[in-house]
Amino acid sequence: MSTDTLLAIVEPLLTWYRQNARILPWREEPTPYRVWISEIMLQQTRVEAVKPYFARFLEALPTVPALAQAPEQQLMKLWEGLGYYSRARNLQRAARVMVEQFDGTLPPDYESLLKLPGIGPYTAGAIASIAYGIPVPAVDGNVLRVVMRLIAGWDDIADPNVKRDVAQRMARVLPKDCPGDFNQAMMELGATVCVPGGEPKCLVCPLNALCEGYRQGVARELPIKAKKKARRVEERTVFLLVCDGELGIRRRPTTGLLAGMWELPSAEGKRNLEGSMEQLQEWGVQPQEVKLMPAAKHIFSHVEWHMTGYWVDLKARPEGFTWVGRETLQQEYALPSAFRAYLEAFTK
Ligand code: SF4
Repeated sequence: MSTDTLLAIVEPLLTWYRQNARILPWREEPTPYRVWISEIMLQQTRVEAVKPYFARFLEALPTVPALAQAPEQQLMKLWEGLGYYSRARNLQRAARVMVEQFDGTLPPDYESLLKLPGIGPYTAGAIASIAYGIPVPAVDGNVLRVVMRLIAGWDDIADPNVKRDVAQRMARVLPKDCPGDFNQAMMELGATVCVPGGEPKCLVCPLNALCEGYRQGVARELPIKAKKKARRVEERTVFLLVCDGELGIRRRPTTGLLAGMWELPSAEGKRNLEGSMEQLQEWGVQPQEVKLMPAAKHIFSHVEWHMTGYWVDLKARPEGFTWVGRETLQQEYALPSAFRAYLEAFTK
């Protein structure tokens, strides 16, 4: 498909978008801050799941300076359950740069946005075009899928060169007077009509007369994406240390998976009772009673934890842990959802 043909999608796409766009909280008032927060939350998370998080976050931290100054615990609590916590940390790092270098606002140019922590080409493009009206493309997975179907392209969309090529094609057809609407229209079409999983709704698509994938009957097979490596499985043993109704938690190391988060103490490997007693002894824990709990599983992007759990009743609190009661735990501490199955046993 030539650029001219791709140019032909602009008008029907915009007309369709203006009549069919979903009403979303961040679209109603697309300030740079709101667009930024929503785009970061929407990475890896569904629109419906993001809505309540977005409302809570904006109420608690309505401006860049408020985000820059937020205590870590508050930030993590606001993010609890969204996962991929490095996104929240990067938000705060970027907010601090904005306070230091840009008077507490998002810089109104693509290149400066791209230099901020946690902001890649897609997010910089989304903020620049939607909030500032700058004509730059924003190519996410939805846009890649729509374009590859439109042009009947068989290249691997996991290849960065293919992504770059799609971004260049988009840059050439992007309408200068409404780049934000165009980018959002492409994403919206991908999210609601040209959907993933081999089931595009071509019969109701505003672009079906222009779509090469549809014309050739191959839209369902596209796009092509090389398979990711299989996730590594890691066995872990998790301990609920309980003393006088309080739970012993601790901080994870500052690097690696879930860096710096609060956690239930855990050890590598699948430990039987004897192996668990050895670990407890190493921590200086003297158990009164140890009970095996049901196994649990948590899936991260590259690793899968298969967990064995023990409930350990103690007489005395050993050092090296922070002790928290049920209410304090629920209100003030954010623990990764990886531990949810075991935490629920304590909080219910
Ligand atoms: Fe996607 Fe089908 Fe529309 Fe082509 S016609 S853009 S494949 S929904």
